[in-house]
Amino acid sequence: EKRQLDRLRQLPSITRDGIEIELQANLELPRELAQATEVAAAGIGLVRTEFLFMNREESPSEDEQVEALSLLVRGMAGKPVTIRTLDIGGDKLAYSLRGITADSPNPALGLRAIRLSLKYRPLLETQLAAILRAGAEGPVRILLPMISSLAEVRETREVLLATAERLKAAGVRIADPLPPLGIMIEVPGAALTADAFAAECDFFALGTNDLTQYALAIDRGDDQVAYLYNTLHPGVLRLIQFAAEAAVRAGIPISVCGEIAGDPRYTPLLLGLGIRTLSMAPASLPRVKQRLRMISIAEANRLVSQVMTQSDPGRIASLLEY
Ligand code: PEP
Ligand code: MG
Repeated sequence: EKRQLDRLRQLPSITRDGIEIELQANLELPRELAQATEVAAAGIGLVRTEFLFMNREESPSEDEQVEALSLLVRGMAGKPVTIRTLDIGGDKLAYSLRGITADSPNPALGLRAIRLSLKYRPLLETQLAAILRAGAEGPVRILLPMISSLAEVRETREVLLATAERLKAAGVRIADPLPPLGIMIEVPGAALTADAFAAECDFFALGTNDLTQYALAIDRGDDQVAYLYNTLHPGVLRLIQFAAEAAVRAGIPISVCGEIAGDPRYTPLLLGLGIRTLSMAPASLPRVKQRLRMISIAEANRLVSQVMTQSDPGRIASLLEY
């Protein structure tokens, strides 16, 4: 078994009919970088930068962030590293920011993620500066969490441009050209207006964990309602399909980086929905590769046309069994 997975490392990530699928890694902690290179990830599809803010009194300085991020960029040796700005609030809390995040009456719907970054400008400016500087070491992409309106994208892009100008004027080495700026599609309203976002964003990353939570109004961390939490709900699948089609039409890259990306049961479904890039915990990568090598895009498309006529998540799950 272990030998078989090792062997997979050498094999190309292509479907049975020869379509290349990019398999990337999600990183929650820097030490997972070794695992990502071990499974030959094509890039980092998601760096959750919250680790920089965890278990400490003070937020990290720009230099400290540059150091941590540069390590990842250099470690990936020319493969792209997608760095998400702070996604604090809701299920993710940081002690150093407790004063800001503590008093939201409904944290999942409150001042969190990009909303918090745009409110506390220095936080965002410092983080963007650090990403731009790390981007001098290799290809990076900037990913914004919990985007719900175009205004948030425009405002962040302005901050990014101003930060880049400031650094350049000071003679600091930064990414050149500027890194692509993309958004998480994880709020249903954003998924349903993905065509408008596609016109102003350089890429999409589908966050199916939060997309499921918000589409179904089920707290992703609440055990009492966990039985209702199901990404195979047709309502969620339609949101994914709509966003994927909008990205393909606009010609911008789209990936899935929620939990379903790392589950081989769902690989044909995601390919059939038009996804060609999957980002997952490094340990999941070999099995997903194994699965996609067994199927053709034509089969995946047929499966999706069957799935999308169904109304019952249980029935959808049984169609995906293999
Ligand atoms: C998601 O919401 O699907 C996602 C990938 O982000 P996170 O799990 O970090 O919220
Ligand atoms: Mg999320």
